[in-house]
Amino acid sequence: MRAITFHGVGDVRVEHVGDPKLLDPTDVVLRVTTSAVCGSDLHQYHGRGGGLVQTGAIMGHEFMGVVEETGAAVRAVRAGDRVVVPFSVSCGQCEWCRRRMPTQCTITGRAVFGGRFGHVFGGGQAERVRVPYADHLCEKVPVDMSDDDALFLGDILSTAFCCAEGGGIRPGDTVAVFGAGPVGLLAMQSAQLFGPARVFAVDRVDYRLALAAELGAEPVSLDAGDPAEQLRSRTAGRGPDVVLECVGHETPFTQAIQAVRPGGTVSSVGVYVEPSMGFPAREAFFKDLTLKMGICNARNFIAPLLPLVQLGKLQPARIITHTMPLAEAPRGYAIFDRKEDRAIKVMLKP
Ligand code: NAD
Ligand code: ZN
Repeated sequence: MRAITFHGVGDVRVEHVGDPKLLDPTDVVLRVTTSAVCGSDLHQYHGRGGGLVQTGAIMGHEFMGVVEETGAAVRAVRAGDRVVVPFSVSCGQCEWCRRRMPTQCTITGRAVFGGRFGHVFGGGQAERVRVPYADHLCEKVPVDMSDDDALFLGDILSTAFCCAEGGGIRPGDTVAVFGAGPVGLLAMQSAQLFGPARVFAVDRVDYRLALAAELGAEPVSLDAGDPAEQLRSRTAGRGPDVVLECVGHETPFTQAIQAVRPGGTVSSVGVYVEPSMGFPAREAFFKDLTLKMGICNARNFIAPLLPLVQLGKLQPARIITHTMPLAEAPRGYAIFDRKEDRAIKVMLKP
């Protein structure tokens, strides 16, 4: 089959590799119908966060498809079922899985499809992918739901919703979202479900801020000066009640703490690739802030968010700017990374 494989920093290639096989009775093999390039793939693409993926490893943790083969112990899905899968690989049985924290799964060692930590599972930017623990990981997709609507339930939509929920937004609140990439834009949509009076979008990429404005957010450009000052001056000196951090770096995390009002909440889902970072701890302490961060247990959000997408209350497909065949994935990575060709979300169709 064809797959996108990693060959070094900034170097992903389309290659012919062996088809994935059923290894355990609880596995299925999917024929991938859609995958996507995620902001987290860019960390790997740049070799950020310690340890490169092995040369030749298959990339991608955002994918969905049709079940092609099932292991003997699989009960919940059958060949022909269309399913979406969360980005992290979990067994469904260990202590952390039972506590609804599948990203902490001890059996898989906190693995992510196509990732470099824990046990290695091939990624989904390919024609086929092996999904272990299929009864636990596969969620069936309604027949009338498109791949473009369903795919992000397994990663960025769940992550974005989790970020908004973690912010504890109350009706009438002012919310600021740092980052107008795919995750930030979906966090803006998710925030609206909690009834805020105003939502601000902070970024420096003009076309991303333009889509944020279409989604009802008020753009704040980093190029116009310190975002914390801009947010304060636009909220009568007060600052937003809740800041959602969707970038993953010391700078926006610091700016989020500086921007939020006293007693407010900063909820962060950006992936921090640095092992530690500096942030204004004293300011956070004396402002009496609530800080929330973490990887998203996307498995828990797929089923509850699905009806919101079906009813159009969440419209994840609005962030899609490019749909390309797998063969063009290297260009897809490059334009998403460099923010060229007005790229926001790049979809790959095998
Ligand atoms: P992205 O790289 O396209 O988006 C990041 C955006 O932040 C860009 O538009 C960039 O211009 C903007 N930005 C950079 N510095 C900024 C600053 N100081 N203030 C405001 N905006 C700034 O990627 P994405 O797909 O939207 O992902 C965003 C982050 O979410 C990444 O770190 C990714 O790894 C992470 N992520 C986390 C989870 C999770 O489970 N927690 C899941 C998926 C993605
Ligand atoms: Zn991801």
